[in-house]
Amino acid sequence: MKYNVDEKGYYGEFGGAFIPEMLYPNVENLRQNYLKIMAEPSFKEEFDQLLKDYVGRPSPLYLAKRLSKKYNTKVYLKREDLNHTGAHKVNNTIGQILMAKRLGKKRIIAETGAGQHGVATATVCALMGMECIVYMGEIDIARQAPNVARMKMLGAEVRPALSGSRTLKDATNEAIRDWINNPVNTHYIIGSAIGPHPYPDMVTRFQSVISEEIKWQLKEKEGKETPDYIIACIGGGSNAAGTYYHYLHEENVKIIAVEAAGKGVHSGESAATSALGKEGVIHGCKTLLMQTNDGQITEPYSISAGLDYPGVGPMHAHLHKTGRAEFISATDDEAMNAGLELTKLEGIIPAIESSHALAVFKHKTFKPDDVVVISLSGRGDKDLDNYIKYFKL
Ligand SMILES: *Cc1c(COP(=O)(O)O)cnc(C)c1O
Repeated sequence: MKYNVDEKGYYGEFGGAFIPEMLYPNVENLRQNYLKIMAEPSFKEEFDQLLKDYVGRPSPLYLAKRLSKKYNTKVYLKREDLNHTGAHKVNNTIGQILMAKRLGKKRIIAETGAGQHGVATATVCALMGMECIVYMGEIDIARQAPNVARMKMLGAEVRPALSGSRTLKDATNEAIRDWINNPVNTHYIIGSAIGPHPYPDMVTRFQSVISEEIKWQLKEKEGKETPDYIIACIGGGSNAAGTYYHYLHEENVKIIAVEAAGKGVHSGESAATSALGKEGVIHGCKTLLMQTNDGQITEPYSISAGLDYPGVGPMHAHLHKTGRAEFISATDDEAMNAGLELTKLEGIIPAIESSHALAVFKHKTFKPDDVVVISLSGRGDKDLDNYIKYFKL
């Protein structure tokens, strides 16, 4: 079984590029060039240098002793929370802005829901001195004031999406419209392992630095490159894809994806795509998504803004369908408590997204000699208000 993308842009039956004809030249240009550009020594050198000196990589692989003791197994945390800007997203935006420069683009667009991807994009645009326009639903702009302020400080223009439910999918539509109108000078930075081919593969490759590092870090600490389990939370699936990438074909490494069950998988308020999703097209690719019987996308819900998405990337749909990955749905309550537990046991306040991955211990028991690696995708500073409200701190 093959878990990477094939030449046609598919992972099994998922993936592809379902785009308006007007976007075809842009996406085709990217498709023809992305692997070539990524393989150029000068590209690799610049990417690696920025990951090292600007992001602060390699991120540590930390043996969480008190957490391990509590669950009677050996838990390592991959510390993406220590990256500049506080999460894994910057690995991808750095890669894509370097790609945009090599393709001769002068202007960057992105869409954002909670603002995390918008901030990561605005950050690298400031770094490179490039024009940056971030589309964001009007409702989200009101809900996410600190991230809007960050983007503005970084020099980005935040354009409100005023149509529909005025949230993420409307922002996506505006970004796509912009790209259709500005096909030559503009690159569209997608923030997760989703979108028309080649985006899911390109984003996965930029994020694959995570598992590349885990391999040599585990070798140093455990004398072998492979853990027994590799675990990540999954929204669109970029931190998960990067964490799994170099282990996809190591069948003795078990893969676990934790998605957001919100108030319960069947509560009507969740983002549990693997449990509830059906095949359909979202964001330009065929994948699993939450939809009504007549194909309308269902409004998702999670306490975690980054997991509040009605689909998963096509690679994950394939990992689910083939059984290569086990999918677990963790509720808001399970995640919040797992986040507080990590804080008390290890002195690390995780992003609520990452807290979902930590909630795996509520669902699974590991053996004492298992080596379990969990992607700690981001830090919890951005979520303090939510933690305060939830725990009445
Ligand atoms: C955005 C985000 C996620 C979810 O995105 P993926 O593409 O699924 O990784 C997870 N964790 C954090 C900290 C995030 O900011």
